[in-house]
Amino acid sequence: MHTNYTPLRALYDFYDDFIKGIPFACRKGCNVCCTVNVAVTSLEAALVADSLNQHGTASPADSPSGIIKQAASSPGYTPTTTINRNTWELIRGQDATEDSGEHRDGTCPLLDSEGLCTVYEARPFACRAMSSTIPCDQGGSAAMEPFLVTVNLAMYQIIEHLDSQGGTTGNLSVMLQTMLDAAPGDTENTMNASPLRNCTLPGFVVPPEEKLRFRSFLRRLQAWKTEDGTPLSRWLPEELPVY
Ligand code: SF4
Repeated sequence: MHTNYTPLRALYDFYDDFIKGIPFACRKGCNVCCTVNVAVTSLEAALVADSLNQHGTASPADSPSGIIKQAASSPGYTPTTTINRNTWELIRGQDATEDSGEHRDGTCPLLDSEGLCTVYEARPFACRAMSSTIPCDQGGSAAMEPFLVTVNLAMYQIIEHLDSQGGTTGNLSVMLQTMLDAAPGDTENTMNASPLRNCTLPGFVVPPEEKLRFRSFLRRLQAWKTEDGTPLSRWLPEELPVY
């Protein structure tokens, strides 16, 4: 199983800091976006699995592992391509691989009986990126500033890059079930929890009117330091083109 969560945790901290001034309508207990359709990298899923194991809730007889198994037997959205893969295709002038993953109804198996996330501190980026400046729990649509959509896409790309040395992307429940079932240290099994391989970061495709602001965001991200004082740029490619 992956053990170096340092850059991932630093990215999560950076994102918390980046969004802290935004007046989101999201509040504790609202979980309309907590569905079976969450996609994750193996790195993110490993952090969640470790959190479940540490809190002693991963024994087969206990919740939520039994519920995870059930959710994994009929998974929701399962991506068939990744953002970095599509970006590489775009840059090379190829047709982008279509994502044929389909969403289905169902709540995330990691919600507790009070509707709270049982792995909140370790939750994957897809959960952190789901936000809205207007209430959407009465059947309405979420609202997000366009630049935050761009930033979220970039965050997904960077996390995929962190996990591009053999890592994969897939449905959260399926990835978790494979990881919770694997013997401790069974790295190969956990990294192969999905057949969809992650790709390195080719750069970012950003709308022309956002490029200036995006470059400033990127500089801030590259300079952000992990707990031991290492800048995040240490884990990123030297060249980060913005197309
Ligand atoms: S992992 Fe937590 S935050 Fe994410 S969908 Fe599941 S319950 Fe919600």
